[in-house]
Amino acid sequence: MRYDPHDDFDGTCMAPGCQNEVTQPEGRPRRRARAGEQTPGTDGRTTRDQRRTCSPRCRTALSRARREKPRPLAICALCGQPFKQEGRGRRTVCPYDAADDFCQGLQDDAEDANAMRLAELGEAVCQGPECEEPIPYAGRGRPARFCSAKCRTRCYRAARKDA
Ligand SMILES: [Zn+2]
Ligand SMILES: [Zn+2]
Ligand SMILES: [Zn+2]
Repeated sequence: MRYDPHDDFDGTCMAPGCQNEVTQPEGRPRRRARAGEQTPGTDGRTTRDQRRTCSPRCRTALSRARREKPRPLAICALCGQPFKQEGRGRRTVCPYDAADDFCQGLQDDAEDANAMRLAELGEAVCQGPECEEPIPYAGRGRPARFCSAKCRTRCYRAARKDA
């Protein structure tokens, strides 16, 4: 039996946890016999995964395992440490809750710098939940994050609920 040299297939089922020997499938039987055949042979067509797994069930398990393959760690743009990318996210910095003190500090600084930039551009808006009230910048010091005390309270309450 010949195996694809570019394949890591060694004759046993590729599905995770399965070590069954894979009997190479023959393809679908043809309806008619070709010249010189007593009975119809097969069309010889099989998929790559059919040749690599022992059963349809293992074929499904293999494709699922492939889909869930862990993604390589991303590198935080701020602290330079590797971190795990969650879901479909394309984060460039550590998730805040998983970040160490050093990175959290850097992230706070970056957020402050960004808030300052927006404030200077006159584009700062309230960070309160469901509020996008523009916040005028006095031109000095740390820009305000909320339009009102009410929004600040609602924001802190919402953050506590998430934690
Ligand atoms: Zn199997
Ligand atoms: Zn980081
Ligand atoms: Zn507000």
